[in-house]
Amino acid sequence: MEEVMILGSGPAGLTAAIYAARANLSPLLVTGSELGGQIATTTDVENFPGFPEGLTGPQMYELMLKQAERFGTRVEYDEVTGVDLTQGPPFRVKTHSTEYQTKAVIIATGARPRKLGVPGENQLIGRGVSYCATCDGFFFRGKELIVVGGGDSALQEGLFLTKFATKVNIVHRRDQLRAGPTLQARAARNEKINFIWNTVVTEIVGNGAVRAVRLKDVKTGHEYERPIDGVFVYIGHLPNTHLFQGQLDMDEEGYLIVDNRLHTSVPGVFAAGEVHDRIFRQAITSAGFGCMAAMEAEKYLAALEDRLQPVPAAVSR
Ligand SMILES: Cc1cc2nc3c(=O)[nH]c(=O)nc-3n(C[C@H](O)[C@H](O)[C@H](O)COP(=O)(O)OP(=O)(O)OC[C@H]3O[C@@H](n4cnc5c(N)ncnc54)[C@H](O)[C@@H]3O)c2cc1C
Repeated sequence: MEEVMILGSGPAGLTAAIYAARANLSPLLVTGSELGGQIATTTDVENFPGFPEGLTGPQMYELMLKQAERFGTRVEYDEVTGVDLTQGPPFRVKTHSTEYQTKAVIIATGARPRKLGVPGENQLIGRGVSYCATCDGFFFRGKELIVVGGGDSALQEGLFLTKFATKVNIVHRRDQLRAGPTLQARAARNEKINFIWNTVVTEIVGNGAVRAVRLKDVKTGHEYERPIDGVFVYIGHLPNTHLFQGQLDMDEEGYLIVDNRLHTSVPGVFAAGEVHDRIFRQAITSAGFGCMAAMEAEKYLAALEDRLQPVPAAVSR
């Protein structure tokens, strides 16, 4: 019987592990197939406090992992394939190799940006292709960019990028945006923003760094290459929550619903990071949520222990 299992090895899961381990809970962390989570896919992290020179995503993962293990976290390099959270504690967690029982669970399975799925995209991530303006905008001072998408995120991030870029071209497959009217008005007022309507990206071109995109006008079928320095993609985020469907409350997009102490709809099951946070989506905020979830799990386990112990006679003087 485990005290607490942590699902996911991104900043949220590893920070939860550090806190849970330092609370003497000897947590078991299941990494999932993406060791280190999304941050481990990037080359430059310049906004995580404590690293004034920056560091790479894989370095951040290694350091967090080392810190979690130093205090007694046990790490399973496996993936959770099923859970039963309906009748617990104990909850059941199944991986490819083992079935576990645990008194508490911290879900930190994160999310993933929806990709364009075009040639060049995967090879050029971190080399001009990005899914996060807050993370990478700073690297594009004086450059010309493309933002793909037509919703609130595309406009919000596009507007943010105008702080650095000379020009931000918003490529949208339709001739109307889904974004709210205030953002649309703000974008229309911004001289650095240019809309390219009825158009999709068919390829991202570059050898080691983005050099151009191939664009296709969906009305005329005309396809052409356009030189560009960077491509920011905002066509949605997908939380990794399919395992919990029907067991935990989720919103319409599949993000776990938590209260302000990160309790999910099942007592004893907590969520941390992008699996519930659709707003901030940063390594530091995810790490913060990991800390909170572990502290709450510790309190939950202490209360559970109280319930199982016989009540001693009142001490009187
Ligand atoms: C290219 C890129 C660059 C970025 N750059 C920055 C940056 O510079 N600064 C910054 O602050 N943020 C950056 N971000 C955002 C940051 O990476 C995320 O906010 C952060 O990683 C979210 O952490 P998380 O722990 O919530 O989830 P994730 O990082 O998404 O980690 C999820 C974890 O859950 C695991 N998992 C999933 N399913 C299962 C399962 N079934 N069983 C077990 N485990 C599972 C995965 O293997 C993974 O380890 C960047 C993101 C991307 C994509």
